Amino acid sequence: MKVAIIGGGLAGLTAAAYLSEHPDIEGVLFERSPQLGGRAFTYEKAGFTLNYGAHAIYGLDRHTLSVMERELYLRFGSKQVDKRKVMYEKGRQLTPAPLDFVNLVKTDILSGMQKVRFVGEITAMIANIHQIKHYATLGDYLAESGAGEDVKELWEHLVCSNFFITPEDARRVPGSVISEYYHNLFLSQRPVNYVLGSWAVITDQLRDKIDLAGRWSVAMQEGVDGIRYELGKYMLKTKAREEAFDRVVFAMPVQQVVKLLRGTPWEPFLAPYEHNTATEVMVYDVGLSTVVARPFSYISDMNHKMFISDVSATDHTLVPDGGQLLQGIAYLSDDTAGGEGDRKAYLEERTRQMEALFDRHYPGWREAVAVKRVSKKAMVQSVKNVAGNKLLPVRIENMPFYFCGDGCEGKGELAERAFSSGRYAAELMLKEVGVHVKQ
Ligand SMILES: Cc1cc2nc3c(=O)[nH]c(=O)nc-3n(C[C@H](O)[C@H](O)[C@H](O)COP(=O)(O)OP(=O)(O)OC[C@H]3O[C@@H](n4cnc5c(N)ncnc54)[C@H](O)[C@@H]3O)c2cc1C
Repeated sequence: MKVAIIGGGLAGLTAAAYLSEHPDIEGVLFERSPQLGGRAFTYEKAGFTLNYGAHAIYGLDRHTLSVMERELYLRFGSKQVDKRKVMYEKGRQLTPAPLDFVNLVKTDILSGMQKVRFVGEITAMIANIHQIKHYATLGDYLAESGAGEDVKELWEHLVCSNFFITPEDARRVPGSVISEYYHNLFLSQRPVNYVLGSWAVITDQLRDKIDLAGRWSVAMQEGVDGIRYELGKYMLKTKAREEAFDRVVFAMPVQQVVKLLRGTPWEPFLAPYEHNTATEVMVYDVGLSTVVARPFSYISDMNHKMFISDVSATDHTLVPDGGQLLQGIAYLSDDTAGGEGDRKAYLEERTRQMEALFDRHYPGWREAVAVKRVSKKAMVQSVKNVAGNKLLPVRIENMPFYFCGDGCEGKGELAERAFSSGRYAAELMLKEVGVHVKQ
């Protein structure tokens, strides 16, 4: 059987790595850009290792990547972000983020009674009996919860940080999604980790696995432009060839799937997924020639909804000797009602707020900049997991294809959704064609 996978990001590489283990399956992984990894692409500049998307893993011990580590024999090191150095800034006050019981006791975010209330919420989440799962959204739950304003603000802020979204969007996250996500995260012994050496450590191993199997080829800089059905096969067209396949996996953002299938007989099946909104952020990465200050590993500005991670405080392999890598991320609203001019002004304001956050906590950073990358429209997740949006299923009834990526149904958010849906797409295909699946 011959399989095509369209897209060489985390999802496509995961699906290909699993499928490549099976002797009855051969295939081609098509990637339109010059490199693999997609939004998890890693690159080197002036001795710094930069990721297009960050590589924090939330809840590593309960994460799909740990399952893949066992099943695919991946090897990687990881390091927990120092929880004592994760801070929130509210007004002009700095206080520990209530990530565990020690920090919860120390934090000024909540008063004494509110701390008791929040501990109750965490306990209910861990025991999987939290009422939020019965509410349509976080906002609906908070409105009826009777919790104090600070507890409500903390919930919103936690969801902003983990889902990379604004408070308005946080209130629209379904209660069931919050319940499952925080059940896993609060139970985790390893809540926030970095993969040492960045995403490339994972993507390189997935690529090696695919190559070593000997039955797959990876077609770089070969975007798929069209697909049609002929005599029981799916014909994929690129600039270089047209080739027939038995099965096709779409491993790309949902918006790009919709575009690729426009004008084909399959277009109507995608109508429910056409108007999804993506999660977009502003990224402000700076590589500094020297460590200008190391007050924390992570500082989250609650006033302006943005954060800076001192990535090199956790993973020093990413910087040249004595250097420092700081990553700023600002959550963005997708309100474009005011037109392009207003959007531009909004993004400029976000940039100023971010630079002010750097100025407050990393004085001297401007003079030490060796590498800088600012993106005002970085797609963190292809489908924002909020009410009104609809994640793409890995299989759609009456449609012959498989879908995976961070806009698809799967476990977790962000990269975990890409890994888990990629793994699931491979598993489903193997089951459907009757190949024995490793447990
Ligand atoms: C700034 C930022 C910070 C992030 N931080 C984190 C984090 O800390 N933790 C975390 O877990 N996740 C994080 N993420 C999210 C994570 O990077 C993504 O969820 C993940 O990389 C998505 O992988 P994917 O395979 O679903 O999609 P993609 O990476 O978009 O891969 C799709 C691939 O398909 C290719 N393609 C598209 N169309 C075609 C075509 N027609 N033919 C051939 N190829 C095609 C593209 O070139 C691309 O390589 C972050 C993302 C960003 C942008």
